[in-house]
Amino acid sequence: MADLYARDAAALSSMSHLRFFPQAVTGGQGCWLKSDDGRALLDFSGSWGAVGLGHAHPAIREAVNAALNSQAGASLLSTATEPAVALAERLLSIVPERARGRVWLGHSGSDANETVARAVLAATGRSRIIAFEGGYHGGTTGSVAVSGHPVQDAGARLPGLSLIPFPNPLRDGGVQAAAERSLGRLRALLEGEIPASDVAAMFIEPIQSDGGMLVAPDGYFREVEALCRQHGILLVCDEVKVGLGRTGLLHCFDHLGIEPDIIVFGKALGGGLPISAAVGPEAVMNHASAFSFQTLHGNPVCASAALAVLDTVQREGLAENAADVGAHLAAGLRDLAGRHALIGDVRGMGLALGAELVTDDMTPASQETALTVFRAHQLGLVLYYVGTASNVLEFTPPLTLTRAEAERGIEILDRALADVARGVIGAGDTAGFEGW
Ligand SMILES: *Cc1c(COP(=O)(O)O)cnc(C)c1O
Repeated sequence: MADLYARDAAALSSMSHLRFFPQAVTGGQGCWLKSDDGRALLDFSGSWGAVGLGHAHPAIREAVNAALNSQAGASLLSTATEPAVALAERLLSIVPERARGRVWLGHSGSDANETVARAVLAATGRSRIIAFEGGYHGGTTGSVAVSGHPVQDAGARLPGLSLIPFPNPLRDGGVQAAAERSLGRLRALLEGEIPASDVAAMFIEPIQSDGGMLVAPDGYFREVEALCRQHGILLVCDEVKVGLGRTGLLHCFDHLGIEPDIIVFGKALGGGLPISAAVGPEAVMNHASAFSFQTLHGNPVCASAALAVLDTVQREGLAENAADVGAHLAAGLRDLAGRHALIGDVRGMGLALGAELVTDDMTPASQETALTVFRAHQLGLVLYYVGTASNVLEFTPPLTLTRAEAERGIEILDRALADVARGVIGAGDTAGFEGW
């Protein structure tokens, strides 16, 4: 392992590193990665949810090969191509009526959210956006501008950005109190603190994933939607991490009973290749030509991969599998919570799950979280953590995960947690792996 990992450190910029342990992989298949020391690693992250179909899925390989066998250029900027058009048509067919206008294709969740943020301001002539504390919408200047994650506090927020708390039942005194606290802030903003008629859009994550895999109370987002409608505010739903089958339904917002105006897809859309999409009403998405483009946007290779992903999610029933295996994995995690005092909460939907690690008085156990994922990797499980206090294990495996694989991962995590409690591993071992 030393070799590949050390070469990475010597050659690659640390600015894009978010390292939790010295992982170096040479290949992968399904839910398994091949470590460069020959070990098989069970992948409970799926590259942060990007590898929705698992590693090396034949449907993606075939789609990419076909696109490269006769390559229709490399860009949609100045030409229509079959893969980009077919992908856009397909995306329009899976979104609610009010979002069924036009599709913008990009490379990443970041450029898609940035484009939407710019477009809603420009198209409505309004100057403000509302988003959530702890929300993560990307790493470019324009997506940081509408995010609320503390890891990005050094970046500049949009001058007209207002952040409200995301309901957190565990920390806010229960489901009801959490919803009321958040909605109270939203109402206070819209009913006096800021001119509601200046607000162009509200950005939501249907599950706040990087902020800690937080699930809002039932009915919460319907109240948010009603307030947005009342004030003519566009509802932008960022499905980048939890969309496209991961939560057991095609869209995570389908669980919430809401219909967003604009929907942003990324990560799993490309199955490991860089492509994102924003889908919304024509008045916004056709605001102006040449408003937001990069040369390789909508290139036929990535667009073909995305079409294969959408086909495969449907054909292989992967949303149903995520619901079934996700429930099994969640049950396994709850069982672990009964035996490991460190686990204070298990939450999520389908294969978007989180386990919050805490000390006896519910203080975030950030140090133990870092040790747990480090130890899990030594034992053969890839798992990262999220949360504004860096104490929530995040489970976003490929949607093809089997029940047996879920059980295997639980066994490894069980041992990792026991080893951390016994002090088998200590802070000295994880030096240099700050995570976030
Ligand atoms: C990862 C993520 C993004 C940013 O996507 P990138 O592909 O990293 O640019 C945006 N929103 C959410 C909810 C994400 O999880």
